[in-house]
Amino acid sequence: MTADLTWIDLRSDTVTCPTPAMREAMACAPVGDDVYGEDPTVNALQARLADELGFEAALFVPSGTQSNLLALLAHCERGDEYIVGMDAHTYKYEGGGAAVLGSIQPQPILHATDGTLPLSDIDGAIKPDDAHFARTRLVCLENTWHGRVMPLDYLAQARALCDRRGLALHLDGARLYNAVVACNVPPREITQHFDSVSVCLSKGLGAPVGSVLLGSQALISKARRWRKVCGGGMRQAGILAAGAMHALDHHVARLADDHARAARLADALQAAGISVRSQQTNMVFIEVPTDRLPALKACMDEARVRVSIGYTPAVRLVTHLDVDDDALDRVIHAFSNFAAAA
Ligand SMILES: *Cc1c(COP(=O)(O)O)cnc(C)c1O
Repeated sequence: MTADLTWIDLRSDTVTCPTPAMREAMACAPVGDDVYGEDPTVNALQARLADELGFEAALFVPSGTQSNLLALLAHCERGDEYIVGMDAHTYKYEGGGAAVLGSIQPQPILHATDGTLPLSDIDGAIKPDDAHFARTRLVCLENTWHGRVMPLDYLAQARALCDRRGLALHLDGARLYNAVVACNVPPREITQHFDSVSVCLSKGLGAPVGSVLLGSQALISKARRWRKVCGGGMRQAGILAAGAMHALDHHVARLADDHARAARLADALQAAGISVRSQQTNMVFIEVPTDRLPALKACMDEARVRVSIGYTPAVRLVTHLDVDDDALDRVIHAFSNFAAAA
């Protein structure tokens, strides 16, 4: 009965496929050799984001992981350290790249429940100028973090702290535009506080590949060098940049639909008796007792719904471009069946 149903994939917003219009834009993109800096579509994308987010320069890279890595390599030298959240992507989910490739030490600290790093904890983690210690250079924040949006006044306070203590401030803004849409502010309201920002085009924005790192001319020149060293120098990358450009033109405002659907999903799950730990922007985290996870998996397989089980302590459900209202109804129905079987 369910065999003919298409799969609904709520594991991540990375699973989106390019729309026909995006593929068309990609097929028609003017291109050149980007390692020579001669790809007009890459250059247009970089100039556009630099302007929109308020930076001197930008760099198109294959992934968010590489973008964060290049930022760390550009801000820090061997023997430096960066302060970062214990559950931040940059620290936990990027293979320790800054340590592996840059001899840059992380100083992880606990997140507050809203995803911020408490300012007094950041302050307390900064090491004195002493030969015993790594040199603290940089603070790295993530917005959104687990779907949560950082308060704008917190960002201003973090900036003030970094200025006072002589540190740089980097934003892993993989989902910056989810925060922008949720706060209903121009992107610069968020990005103005940072020395560098990394934005993913391949998450909720729906492009197949690519991230952009933004910063000063000097920082981006260093990052460009490191990009080549890391094997991230691409040639006719305008094909990819065109998908990213299309995403910025057509898929930003619609993130509000993903947020509304995540809210509807959270309400429906709660009503079905499932414990919702949090819902903000396009992510819903639910608590399912460990002994019921196999039943959840079976129930979701039966309904052709993919969810992330066992990756984080809670089960994560992510709405995106390829989840419409009908799909959401099917998901809610599947969870209601699961809850009723308890
Ligand atoms: C996905 C993600 C990244 C890394 O992006 P990739 O393109 O998967 O390497 C970095 N930070 C956060 C918060 C992410 O969600």
